[in-house]
Amino acid sequence: MQLETISSISTPVGEGAIAIVRLSGIDAVEIADTLYKGAKPLSSVDSHTINYGHIVDPETGESVEEVMAAVMRAPKTYTREDIVEINCHGGIHTVNRVLQLTLKHGARMAEPGEFTKRAFLNGRIDLSQAEGVMDFIRSKTTEASKVANQQMQGRLKTYVGSLRQSILNILAQVEVNIDYPEYDDVEEATTSFLLDEAKKVEVEIEKLLKSSSQGKILREGLSTVIVGKPNVGKSSLLNYFIQDDKAIVTDVAGTTRDILEEYVNVNGIPLKLVDTAGIRDTNDIVEKIGVERSRQALAQAELILYVVNNNEPLTHEDIEILDSISDQKVIVIVNKLDLESNLDLEELQNRYPDMQIVRTSIINSTGIDDLEDRIAELFFDGSIQSTDSTYVSNNRHIGLLEDAKRTIADAIESAEMDVPVDIIQIDLVKTWELLGEVIGEDVSEQLIDQLFSQFCLGK
Ligand code: GDP
Ligand code: ZN
Repeated sequence: MQLETISSISTPVGEGAIAIVRLSGIDAVEIADTLYKGAKPLSSVDSHTINYGHIVDPETGESVEEVMAAVMRAPKTYTREDIVEINCHGGIHTVNRVLQLTLKHGARMAEPGEFTKRAFLNGRIDLSQAEGVMDFIRSKTTEASKVANQQMQGRLKTYVGSLRQSILNILAQVEVNIDYPEYDDVEEATTSFLLDEAKKVEVEIEKLLKSSSQGKILREGLSTVIVGKPNVGKSSLLNYFIQDDKAIVTDVAGTTRDILEEYVNVNGIPLKLVDTAGIRDTNDIVEKIGVERSRQALAQAELILYVVNNNEPLTHEDIEILDSISDQKVIVIVNKLDLESNLDLEELQNRYPDMQIVRTSIINSTGIDDLEDRIAELFFDGSIQSTDSTYVSNNRHIGLLEDAKRTIADAIESAEMDVPVDIIQIDLVKTWELLGEVIGEDVSEQLIDQLFSQFCLGK
């Protein structure tokens, strides 16, 4: 496939000082050469070399930027096309000028995700790997990027591929049965083989789905709300999390919402602290944004940290709020343990037997380890083992796996009711197709476009 050459600013994840203008396509080297002046033209350098030179505006002769230009010729490149990466050092304005020059001299601005789309279209990566790249860009913590990385490595592809192979084996056995319907023992063997194998596939799909909710937390953060009456220590807790060098992201990029979201890393779990604006201003959510808003934030939270003061008895207000959230995941933090205890801990425990209670003195940094352990326990059975599990962390995959779980369950149910195998075959084929969609086989053009348009620019 010969596509026109595309260009965009593509700065590597986690690096700020250097910005890269990346060109990909049949004319990438030629376009770069109209702008590049160095010891040799880029068309004559070896592939996969980095070359020192200058970007010069060919119309004015003005030197725009001192650069290192990496030349990578097809097919051993990310997109499997010729790629030139122009590494610039001079800040966003010069980088932008270099980009504009490439656009003026034959390249087209890349659409979001178009580099990765080309890698996919040129067979360099499969769809789940491409989505892994997208998740990688967005991932908020090291654990999350490990999961994204594994997906990029094709781990999901291998896993789902072997499930598809199992289904093919069942289908082969069904074929034998259909070809020799007169043999009763063949039919019996088929049904029992089908049941055994289909149940194994079902178990594996369920495992993938279970891991998906953990994957989602690692990818998107666990939405968490800190609440409690004024002066109990909410801001202190937030500041502890943030000052402990754990803050990762401090605003929601590209959105116009008025809710401030803050990410902190707790034992590798990214907590997305919602509506912390009120806490930071030392006013409290309830006062600041009104009861309705705060109830909404509470209802949507995956984890609620409810802070009370050990020095004071529980009030009506506490009980009212705790009652309203008693079916959610709540950790009650009894803070100010260093002060005299005036709170009836037993009453609290008896009233809310399903809630976790931890006791802290935030100003002395005590009890917070315990809090962090409880969070890990609530959502990850104690520890995160991303290296041992194949997480599915993508909503499209989850939807497809849920459908596949239903069709394989239908097949199993039919087999148990002795439905003729050629009818069960239909559900098996459907399951096989759904799993294929997870790894990008049999996907429609439209789906591909929709997916890749979600990518960040320059990837
Ligand atoms: P918020 O209104 O719930 O956000 O409470 P703050 O975090 O602003 O804390 C209110 C006051 O309690 C501040 O003076 C804090 O220093 C103090 N405070 C916070 N945690 C503790 C604690 O564990 N022990 C004691 N004695 N004081 C605390
Ligand atoms: Zn506060």
